[in-house]
Amino acid sequence: MLPRDDHGRIFLKGVPRPQLLEWAGAQGLRPGQADALWAALYRKLRSDFATMPELDRAARDGLAAVARLDVLRLEAVKQAADGTSKLVFQTDDGAAVESVLIPGPERATLCVSSQVGCAMNCQFCLTATMGLARNLSAAEIVDQLVIARRRFPDVWISNVVFMGMGEPLHNLDQVLPAIAVMVDDHGLGLSHRRVTVSTSGLVPQIRRLVAESPAQLAVSINATTDEVRDAIMPVNRKYPLAVLFAALRELPLARRARVTLEYVLLAGVNDSLADAERLAELVRGLPCKLNLIPWNPHPGSEFRRPEPEQVAAFKAHLQGLRLNTSIRATRGDDTMAACGQLGRAPAESPRRTRRPHGLPVIAS
Ligand code: SF4
Repeated sequence: MLPRDDHGRIFLKGVPRPQLLEWAGAQGLRPGQADALWAALYRKLRSDFATMPELDRAARDGLAAVARLDVLRLEAVKQAADGTSKLVFQTDDGAAVESVLIPGPERATLCVSSQVGCAMNCQFCLTATMGLARNLSAAEIVDQLVIARRRFPDVWISNVVFMGMGEPLHNLDQVLPAIAVMVDDHGLGLSHRRVTVSTSGLVPQIRRLVAESPAQLAVSINATTDEVRDAIMPVNRKYPLAVLFAALRELPLARRARVTLEYVLLAGVNDSLADAERLAELVRGLPCKLNLIPWNPHPGSEFRRPEPEQVAAFKAHLQGLRLNTSIRATRGDDTMAACGQLGRAPAESPRRTRRPHGLPVIAS
């Protein structure tokens, strides 16, 4: 049973190819026409059945009566000085969904959202202040990529990261088919090595993602003691560091595959050299690469971004311990498009992000 809108029309986006071809066959399309429909959706990026020369008039009219194409409307594109673009979409029910296009020298990365808001309540994240409004559908997730490619035809968007609004592993039933559509060779054609799903550390769902999807895994660590992680990431109270790392070590990763471990650096909270030392202990023996993210400020937050020297020292310490470590460059922060900055404007947000009371101050 394919998902439908309030008027009973089928959402074609986000339905993996085998199911879509089967549905098209049941609608009376010949196999060649069904393939043409898939190509119209994901290669030609058509937004309207009327502009599908791949199909004859009868097929177009028949599809238009029972199905729909775009499910998101592009409301605004805000370009930052560094070339990063924040795309603001609107859903049928009026929710705002945001993606960020991060251009590179040859190819670009699209950071997509998987939920409207987020329930995980990470204390340093603007999206968390919204709470969770709802999950996005697979169609709404895929449409972020389709519409971005249509809007930026000269940019080769080859990478997708699920690092926008939401905890993707809270919405796996929609994220998994969306990934299947994105990596389909006959359509959007992303390499599975270039689709990365980032989680705050939901252990059972990590196992399911690795078992059911070819996408790459990234886990947001952000602290080296349970005391600090409990305070800044409530998920840690359910899946503490020892449980999380034990699960990561047991994942059936492909040969030479690596888990990306993200570490948002918060001044005086988790950025000491003692933290670097503990982090190295935590990851010992795990095939991984470490991605350090100096925290991106947003108004109303009580956290601080570490000084560049501290970030460099943290990285150097890890590299000295022979760990594959990089620093993620801050992109798009003048349009609130940087990591952890997606969501409602702070003035409209009901809650502020704050340094939790009782959080130990760690000398840097
Ligand atoms: S960091 Fe990610 S998981 Fe945590 S609240 Fe923000 S969007 Fe949710």
